[in-house]
Amino acid sequence: MSDTIEKIKCLIIGSGPAGYTAAIYAARANMNPVLYQGMQPGGQLTTTNEVENFPGYVDGVTGPEMMVQLQEQAKRFGADIRDGWATKVDFSGDIHKVWINDSIELHCETVIISTGATAKYLGLPSEQHYLNMGGGVSACAVCDGFFYRNQEVVIVGAGDSACEEAHYLSKLCKKVTMLVRSEKFRASKIMEERVRKTENIEILMNHDTVEVLGDSNVVHAIKALNKTTGEVIEIPATGFFVAIGHKPNTDIFKDYITLDETGYIINTPGTSNTNVAGVFVAGDAADHVYRQAITAAGTGCMAALDAERYLASKE
Ligand SMILES: Cc1cc2nc3c(=O)[nH]c(=O)nc-3n(C[C@H](O)[C@H](O)[C@H](O)COP(=O)(O)OP(=O)(O)OC[C@H]3O[C@@H](n4cnc5c(N)ncnc54)[C@H](O)[C@@H]3O)c2cc1C
Repeated sequence: MSDTIEKIKCLIIGSGPAGYTAAIYAARANMNPVLYQGMQPGGQLTTTNEVENFPGYVDGVTGPEMMVQLQEQAKRFGADIRDGWATKVDFSGDIHKVWINDSIELHCETVIISTGATAKYLGLPSEQHYLNMGGGVSACAVCDGFFYRNQEVVIVGAGDSACEEAHYLSKLCKKVTMLVRSEKFRASKIMEERVRKTENIEILMNHDTVEVLGDSNVVHAIKALNKTTGEVIEIPATGFFVAIGHKPNTDIFKDYITLDETGYIINTPGTSNTNVAGVFVAGDAADHVYRQAITAAGTGCMAALDAERYLASKE
């Protein structure tokens, strides 16, 4: 552990849209924010080439470019952006302790958690190939569905989110094939009914994804195994959507912060407050519903304003 302890008025953990927006607001409110970027500087958007739904970018923008711009904007107002990873916290006292890279000890008056979430994938080599190519694999129908208008797509998943995303895609795409790995949906009855009733959604129960097929640049079809008959089929598709869940990056907070059963931080509705006074949450770390850059940015703004009001109340 460290010999020196640094005192910080406002610590922001994470450098996605939530963290940088919080940094912009906190810096402009003279809170001298310090932001640690973590292992993925810029967050999830750095893994996508096309962001077309963030207001203000008329012609769209690449994810990495947008995140550099957010970082520059935060720096312009004096936010202190640093490399490093929060490895441990102690939120038991009035002063919130955070350790960076297991060595630097920070004593913070306020902490904004904006550590995001990580989409789960199947892990097939072909899936990872097209994901990295940006050529047809996605974990976000709302983000990428528009690119597959009037085309045929496949979605894998069986929960509420998968049903929600399949239904969203059915409004844009010619046909949606939904692969469900077992004989049952995990989704609520009402969500299952909704996809079952949608004409252009075909549901294949008890099917495993075997391979994502394409010409090495873009996806052409999905190979799937019917586990009941043993038959292997090829489903023509230009897009493959993976909707098997997300993992919020909140493990280090679990001893102090109230999480839901899947690990999302629970905030007081309408605010960014967590169960610990002076610790706030923004972005996907607390959001399993919307999971968008604009909502992350919006809650980043809320967290900075809530932190500012908390500090003012202590004066
Ligand atoms: C491929 C893809 C495409 C997408 N496309 C769009 C789109 O077009 N439009 C849209 O609105 N949304 C899109 N999204 C969703 C969007 O990226 C997220 O909703 C948004 O990035 C969430 O922002 P966030 O700030 O909460 O967290 P994230 O972007 O997830 O960032 C989390 C940050 O926390 C850091 N971190 C995590 N743990 C620690 C720790 N212990 N210490 C320090 N730092 C830590 C990480 O390094 C990272 O910087 C897409 C997502 C993906 C995966």
